[in-house]
Amino acid sequence: MSERPQPNPDPATAPYWTGASQRQLVMPQCEACEAFHFYPRTLCPHCGSQAIRWSPVSGFGSIYSMTVVHRAPSPAFEGLVPYVVGLVALDEGPHLMSNIVNCEPADVHIGQKVLATFLELSDGVALPVFEPIDKKSS
Ligand SMILES: [Zn+2]
Repeated sequence: MSERPQPNPDPATAPYWTGASQRQLVMPQCEACEAFHFYPRTLCPHCGSQAIRWSPVSGFGSIYSMTVVHRAPSPAFEGLVPYVVGLVALDEGPHLMSNIVNCEPADVHIGQKVLATFLELSDGVALPVFEPIDKKSS
């Protein structure tokens, strides 16, 4: 089976991946207005400030949108289908796309509360993913 694609950090995204390798979800935060945003930008999308730092977030959020993938986009994902790709609205505001894991795809729904966890891809490389915190018992 081919390997799952690895992240390819650049200067704009390196802090995100460094945080993930330390099992911490970090997001760009404006030093002027304190608002978080994502993806990384050179100007705060809320107030236009250039003073951006990376700060830890709680990891709590809810599913804003989602889809269940049944057909693998590449051989690396063939062993994973069906799996859930969700757009997660973090409690701090930013939205990010990731996998919803540790649950049955049929049980995942919009509005569901989730918490960040980390999937180790290779030595020292971890992918932020999310798992439901209000799993239905079945
Ligand atoms: Zn701002």
